Amino acid sequence: MDGTAVVPRPNHEVRPHPTLYYPTGDIVLLSLPHDGIKTAFKVDRVFLARASPVFETMLTLPPGPDVDMYDGVPSVQMQDMADQLGPFLIAFYDFGRSIPTKKHQADTVKRVQGVLALATKYDVDILRQRIVELLQGDWPASLEDWESAHEERKAIVTGARSKPSKNKHISEIYGQAAAKCLPDPCSAISLASSCNVPSILPAAFYDLSKIAGMVRYKLWDGDGNHFGNHTADLQLLSHKDFIRLTFGRKALSQLFIYRHHNIKTDVLNHLKPEHSCDKKKEPVTCAEQFKNLQLTLENNVLCQGTFLELDNVFESIMQDSKHTVCAQVHHRYKPGLLQLRTELWRRLPEFFGLREGYTPWLTVMSL
Ligand SMILES: [Zn+2]
Repeated sequence: MDGTAVVPRPNHEVRPHPTLYYPTGDIVLLSLPHDGIKTAFKVDRVFLARASPVFETMLTLPPGPDVDMYDGVPSVQMQDMADQLGPFLIAFYDFGRSIPTKKHQADTVKRVQGVLALATKYDVDILRQRIVELLQGDWPASLEDWESAHEERKAIVTGARSKPSKNKHISEIYGQAAAKCLPDPCSAISLASSCNVPSILPAAFYDLSKIAGMVRYKLWDGDGNHFGNHTADLQLLSHKDFIRLTFGRKALSQLFIYRHHNIKTDVLNHLKPEHSCDKKKEPVTCAEQFKNLQLTLENNVLCQGTFLELDNVFESIMQDSKHTVCAQVHHRYKPGLLQLRTELWRRLPEFFGLREGYTPWLTVMSL
């Protein structure tokens, strides 16, 4: 054998797709084989070409002498699997109605990833835009939208409590509700990287940094059903994204500790002995009370990774009577927390190394 022997082309069985096989179609797209079977999609050339410049170039070339034919029309061997090509072509023909529209669904990424991959590959703007908007609903680009999304999810999870359920502990009810409405940020990060959707990455990395701060083993009930809270499959992350996660979490903590130290020093410096205290306490007591409060807040935020939920954490701590502080302290402290939260959000792309051409953590220095 001289090494140039022609490898015979395997004969694959071709099966028409159950719905996307139109008798009047003028082109057949063949999927890559799966278990030895290729799926044939008999579709309309003009329809594909109008929506996709890539299809336009690919399908409007004049047929050469070697053109393959199938069922009386030219056929094109695609480099895509049928389980991606099918939903993608269906979305073409139903004008995107098969693309999910509801936010806060755990299976969103799984349902849209095939269509998004091909919409990106074949440059079908209209399909791509619809899916990107759906993903941005779960991982928004602005702090305001992120807050709304966060509140909506909280409402879904706490709303589950009012539904009757027998023999279930409340944490289990919450856990199951959360599992249904919280998509896995790792799958979103992986999809955003492969399909070029950078806008969802800061929120998705922040979301993931919170989960990664609370690593726990999955719990399984006697029937083998999984129950628990928000989960993330770290194996979906690339090596680079895993480094992003590690450094981003560290940077969030460091900036929080540094800024929070300045905020609390500022509050204490302005707590004058003559301040008119609505709690009618001595200033020294107010200061002590405040020191306890900020210590609890720091612990809660650092342990739970709730860097962007500073005001919620603050308010929930304040509900505990032992942490109540006087109005003067409150009015000086809370704006500082809100300002800090805004800065943390703004700097997420920097912390997680998401700015184009700017990854400061690629060089690590020891002092
Ligand atoms: Zn006071």
